[in-house]
Amino acid sequence: MSRLTFDEARALHLDATVTDLHADTAKLMDKVGFDISERHERPMPRAINYVGHVDVPRLRDGGVAAQFFGFWTVPYPERGCRRSVDTQLDALDRAMAARPEDLVWALTPDDVAAAKARGQIAALGGIEGGQALESDLGSVEHFARRGVRYIGLLHFSANSLGSPAKGKGADPDQGLTAFGRDVVREMNRCGVVVDLAHINRKGFFEALALSTQPPMVSHTGVLGVHEHWRNIDDEQLRAVADHGGCIGVIFSRRYLGGASIEAVVDHLVHILDVAGEDVPALGSDFDGFVVPPEGLEDIAALPNLTVALSRRGVPDRVLRKILGDNPMRVLADIEPVAWRAAHAAAAGEGPDA
Ligand SMILES: [Zn+2]
Repeated sequence: MSRLTFDEARALHLDATVTDLHADTAKLMDKVGFDISERHERPMPRAINYVGHVDVPRLRDGGVAAQFFGFWTVPYPERGCRRSVDTQLDALDRAMAARPEDLVWALTPDDVAAAKARGQIAALGGIEGGQALESDLGSVEHFARRGVRYIGLLHFSANSLGSPAKGKGADPDQGLTAFGRDVVREMNRCGVVVDLAHINRKGFFEALALSTQPPMVSHTGVLGVHEHWRNIDDEQLRAVADHGGCIGVIFSRRYLGGASIEAVVDHLVHILDVAGEDVPALGSDFDGFVVPPEGLEDIAALPNLTVALSRRGVPDRVLRKILGDNPMRVLADIEPVAWRAAHAAAAGEGPDA
């Protein structure tokens, strides 16, 4: 059984396709001018640092190939949420234009592989909370054409799609609304991944049953390890497996139920045991007001997690799946058709040209 050193884990990262399914860095870029190209001081061990976990130099240190940026909004009022996502996308666009050697927009595993070959970090985008659609079905295609790869249907409050696991207006008996069902169908049509983080259990299963494409749960913990309303149960894990999806484990002490890096390993190993090796993935929630466990203070520390998983007996072949092959498989399964159509038209090749 291999027990990797930090350097061996980092070498494995550089050879694998390490992917983080959720970090909120774009909000910082948009709102406080956070410069993702600059190296920021690593938070001190045991210090409480809710943000400042991700930048390009530390993504490189961590051997990360692909970073999903989550675009979140405050829905009071709902009006303005769509624009908020657009300005977060604009902030990322500006960063990529300023330093194209650092970051490049990506949608597919081929895009990620090409970025990696050129020494760039692949940036992918996801929306956190369907309030960003402002109850307009056309918003799905709007964001799909901008290259958004997933939409999380709920966040911390009820919206026009359904009910969250907890938060303002939460109702365990409320499944997807008629509009929520239309949104899932439209996401399938446009090639946008359905993200089931934050949704309540009823909506979770309704969305799974309705969607014709594999889901992601971009950032979550599991109830089998720690009892918390934010976490999902074994039946949900198996249902994601049955639908060909993946589940990113969050790096938040509160949801993990522990302050040690071993807590992250516990959640990942539980998903492995219950749902199989094609399901677990990484969904840090860095820069999302999380307090990460000791040893995972920022994205640069990620090889520590790989070391800890290898000590728990997870073989290299499965490590590669957790680190990135599982989410890449989901992306490969869902062609970003609206994005392709938009860009073919822009290039004068499409029917709209
Ligand atoms: Zn979240």
